[in-house]
Amino acid sequence: MNVKSMNVVGVGVDSETRCSHYHTEKDIIAIKFKCCETYYPCYLCHEACADHPAEQWQVDERHVKAILCGHCGEELTIEAYLNSGSRCPTCQSSFNPNCQLHYHLYFK
Ligand SMILES: [Zn+2]
Ligand SMILES: [Zn+2]
Ligand SMILES: [Zn+2]
Repeated sequence: MNVKSMNVVGVGVDSETRCSHYHTEKDIIAIKFKCCETYYPCYLCHEACADHPAEQWQVDERHVKAILCGHCGEELTIEAYLNSGSRCPTCQSSFNPNCQLHYHLYFK
């Protein structure tokens, strides 16, 4: 599957969904924002490119597929992502564990 076909919006997005804000080897996830149902690599990209404030997913919406692995293109539910141990369950790529510091920006 071609990740580029998922149409991730942001600043300086590369083929594995890194952006100009977060671009280490492990910054390979994109998050779909509830407000616009659009994938962005990070909240700063949303801030830069969207014309509205970001909305967070609610606790009862963890079954929604809102996380994209930029390596293999698999979409994960929020629940699966939170239980993934910072590793893609499909391709085993490591995700940046520091993303956990920002969970509150994306999920309740
Ligand atoms: Zn939005
Ligand atoms: Zn960004
Ligand atoms: Zn993956």
